[in-house]
Amino acid sequence: MPPTIWLFEDQLSLDLEPLNRSKDAAVLLIESDRNMRRLPYHRKRLVFLVSAMRHFVQELQSSGREVAHYPLQKTGYRDSLSALRHYVRKTGCNEFWIIEPSEYHTRKWLESLTDQLGIKITYFPNTLFLTDRHEFRQWVQGIKSPVMEHFYRKMRVKHDVLMDGDKPVGGKWNLDHENRKPIRGQVDIPRRMTFPPDGITQQVIQEIDRRFSDHYGTTDGFDLPVTRSDARIFFDDFLDHRLAGFGDYEDAMLTDEPVLFHSMISPLINVGLLDPLECVRAAEDRWRQNKAPLNAVEGFVRQILGWREYVYGIYWSFMPEYRDRNSRGSERKLPDFFWNADTDLNCLKQCLRQVVKHAYTHHIQRLMVLCNFATLTGISPQAVNDWFLTMYVDSHDWVVTPNVIGMGMNADGGTMATKPYVSSAAYINRMSDYCQKCRYDPKSRTGKNACPFNYLYWTFLRHFRESLGKNMRMNMILKNLDRIPQNEMRQMMQHRKQFIESL
Ligand SMILES: Cc1cc2nc3c(=O)[nH]c(=O)nc-3n(C[C@H](O)[C@H](O)[C@H](O)COP(=O)(O)OP(=O)(O)OC[C@H]3O[C@@H](n4cnc5c(N)ncnc54)[C@H](O)[C@@H]3O)c2cc1C
Ligand code: SF4
Repeated sequence: MPPTIWLFEDQLSLDLEPLNRSKDAAVLLIESDRNMRRLPYHRKRLVFLVSAMRHFVQELQSSGREVAHYPLQKTGYRDSLSALRHYVRKTGCNEFWIIEPSEYHTRKWLESLTDQLGIKITYFPNTLFLTDRHEFRQWVQGIKSPVMEHFYRKMRVKHDVLMDGDKPVGGKWNLDHENRKPIRGQVDIPRRMTFPPDGITQQVIQEIDRRFSDHYGTTDGFDLPVTRSDARIFFDDFLDHRLAGFGDYEDAMLTDEPVLFHSMISPLINVGLLDPLECVRAAEDRWRQNKAPLNAVEGFVRQILGWREYVYGIYWSFMPEYRDRNSRGSERKLPDFFWNADTDLNCLKQCLRQVVKHAYTHHIQRLMVLCNFATLTGISPQAVNDWFLTMYVDSHDWVVTPNVIGMGMNADGGTMATKPYVSSAAYINRMSDYCQKCRYDPKSRTGKNACPFNYLYWTFLRHFRESLGKNMRMNMILKNLDRIPQNEMRQMMQHRKQFIESL
């Protein structure tokens, strides 16, 4: 009996080693009802995952592969284990070829399967990432401060991306300081491409609405690509129309403009419909052809070759204890408005509305509005982690956990970031148009119209002054903190207390 290649929901690529090694082996794909109920996932996330898998099954079949597919609606196989038992009984298969799963809990579960089912599992490296997780762990263990920038430079050299011999093209590794422009006045924002649901996706939408009616979000307006070929068209459209503005406006936020100059390829790249190196090389080509400036292309390359690979390495180096880290002991419950956007803080309202509607916001909204607020108010990092896992179309444990526990909330004790990404209203006011339509005043720290981000920020700094003071990069900010008159600080503390009680 030949082995069966068992692929998971985020391994939807034809270019995988076991597929290349055996053209005859059958492929197993399972839609697990139980996994889809682990959290009350946004329905658009479920539609995307299920529809992409069903389209991939078709693609495999038309390439001549034998496919065993256990769809959701097949009663009796509500989870992967029961489907697997059925498959093993029916076919007599006793060996599975598996690509290393991206998520820790799946890896642990697989380890228990050999005993439970008496099957052999042969693992293949997960080439949907460019990083070898064992190598990364060694790197992290052998270095005092495993910052992303060092890793990113190594990756540029290793893959020869934006390099001029052994030097970075243009002489600098990082052009981030050029990428902080707000959108003011007349800036043409190109529309992103949309893909109306085909027959398969329409059926999936009906199924998800019926089976998961208690889940968050809506399936209305689902328009993402769900096949490899559409994913490539979607990405090419980004390269043609938005990449050139990606750098300048990377940090900008604008009402009712969820995507701006971002790519929105995270859901696609995360399930294997796009390959990370393909995306990086295509962007580099645009720069070499003079079709996009270096600050845009370097910025984009750093997100994928740097941040994406780095968080994957961090995840696999520190799980499972990483998920439970809570270095500031923040225990507050997540406010209800995270689920329904019912708040009068306009920046939060706009970002949360976007999440409820699109299951997507771009990076700065995630980091500098949502996580900033959660950190300043002392919300439990684990509650925030679960919320991000639930609400976003691109969520997977390996990417959410380091981004929330590490980057977003700085709850990992400083492994990923040496200082917290927190700010007052000044940053949000500079980078967005949210404050213009808000009932709060971004310039006031006290008084009835004072913006909560202001007094939350300064009282947070005061509270954690001692630990923050150990970081040289905080010196300037802490000097400003020390200049605040005692009376004003007392008022801000009072505002903080009232605000937190109202959550
Ligand atoms: C609190 C928080 C939660 C996040 N949750 C997710 C998540 O669930 N899924 C997810 O894919 N990304 C997540 N990110 C990272 C990043 O915000 C998203 O990848 C990005 O916003 C997706 O939009 P985009 O495709 O338009 O990205 P672009 O801005 O166009 O960037 C291009 C690509 O770079 C990669 N990338 C950029 N930043 C990161 C990063 N910090 N970590 C990993 N990859 C990165 C993504 O693949 C992204 O598609 C999170 C970040 C934060 C701060
Ligand atoms: S004033 Fe404050 S609460 Fe209102 S949008 Fe600006 S930062 Fe957000």
